[in-house]
Amino acid sequence: MRPLSLRARLALWYAGVLLAILVVMSALSYSLLRWSLLQQVDASLASVAQIVRETDERGAGDSEVERAIRELLGPGFSDRYYQFLDPEGRSRFRSGPPPMVLPLTPEARANAAQGRRTLETLEDPRGGPVRLLTVPVLREGRRVEIIQVSAPLARLRDSLAGYLTTLLWLVPVAVALAAVGGFVITGRALRPVRDMSRAARQITAEDLGRRLARRGAEDEIDHLADTLNTMLAGLEAAFAQARRFSADAAHELRTPLTALKGEIEVALRAGRSPEEYRRVLHSSLEEVEQLIRVAEDLLLFSRSSAALGLPRDRVDLEPIVLEALEAGVRRAHGTGVTVRAEDIEPVTVLGEGGALRRAVLNLVDNAVKYTPAGGKVSLSLLVRDGRGLIIVQDTGIGIDPADRARIFDPFVRLDAARSRDAGGVGLGLALVRSIVAAHGGTVDVESTSGAGSRFTIRLPLA
Ligand code: ADP
Repeated sequence: MRPLSLRARLALWYAGVLLAILVVMSALSYSLLRWSLLQQVDASLASVAQIVRETDERGAGDSEVERAIRELLGPGFSDRYYQFLDPEGRSRFRSGPPPMVLPLTPEARANAAQGRRTLETLEDPRGGPVRLLTVPVLREGRRVEIIQVSAPLARLRDSLAGYLTTLLWLVPVAVALAAVGGFVITGRALRPVRDMSRAARQITAEDLGRRLARRGAEDEIDHLADTLNTMLAGLEAAFAQARRFSADAAHELRTPLTALKGEIEVALRAGRSPEEYRRVLHSSLEEVEQLIRVAEDLLLFSRSSAALGLPRDRVDLEPIVLEALEAGVRRAHGTGVTVRAEDIEPVTVLGEGGALRRAVLNLVDNAVKYTPAGGKVSLSLLVRDGRGLIIVQDTGIGIDPADRARIFDPFVRLDAARSRDAGGVGLGLALVRSIVAAHGGTVDVESTSGAGSRFTIRLPLA
């Protein structure tokens, strides 16, 4: 079965809670009413008993007693019946014919013997329930007689039944109204959410610059709008970056392809000697190699950006750093740059060895590339503050403070004249950053223009 809508659920909860409250309140008010009505009957029975006793003491007869009751309490009390009993329980005199013979229960007799009064509710098969008061009459501390006064409870029962009937239709009506009201109110309360989801649906990848409107109430709805807007801003930035990246990538690929095309066209324009063809093919091969490098870098970069695919093996960094050292030495051969290791400590991290090797190689490669003859490149592997550090330091040309942050962006190459080698596409450091980030680490650079740079990779230990 399909789950109920939020709106229907809220309305049902609302009605359910109200039903529970009304049921409890009705039960309480019913018992309170019943109790207070019974109290009234009991009090009137006590008054009648008092009048009966006092009138009788004056020696007046039955008719006199009844007249006194009517006078003192009003005509509404004419349904009270009373009788006098002698100490043995025999009726001395009684008011008009009662609907039932008022019984003297053993309990009432025992209470009377001890001078106490008794209140009972009895069932009269003809006239319904009856309230009966039995009071002993004491003279000089001696019980001389018993007065019994009764009143029918039919009216009380009818009033209570009427009240109960009223409750039985009022409560469901109130609950039904509450359910309808709850449905309408929650509908209104949820309208901003509906409006927001409609607005959010209209935002597509093409207009990620649009934002959801806030109402300024600083409530849950505004917080939801803020959250979605932050997400949209993130998506917009990511989309813009992806667009810039593909434009830059296309540009990187187009330049060598255009050069290649130009050379081939020129070569085909007229008949050439074999040496001429060989020269064209040679230079074409260089362009193709450059294209392959760009394509490989792009592939690696997009793979490392998808950090989720990275395996989580234990990786010993020492052999990786030593391998990068060897590669650096080979690369520096004949350039007059010395590459050496400084502190090397054993460090183990979790991640992918191949990607980490690539990151360290890129840093060493750059250090050698941007260090003039006579300079030095040094590598260190340390543990500091619970993190593994790989440091690649050079005494090369350095990086301007203004460029330090952006050199990690894809396709950023500082002025081409600085580069002795046309090989780089500006993806090297971007790759380092995305590999390190995928391992939960950071990479940063300290540099003095003209005096050298120091790149530090920090990785969480295994
Ligand atoms: P590239 O493929 O051009 O080497 P990178 O992303 O590796 O691209 O580097 C970006 C730019 O940062 C380089 O063009 C270079 O100008 C600068 N750079 C990188 N490493 C160093 C370094 N060790 N010393 C001086 N400049 C550097």
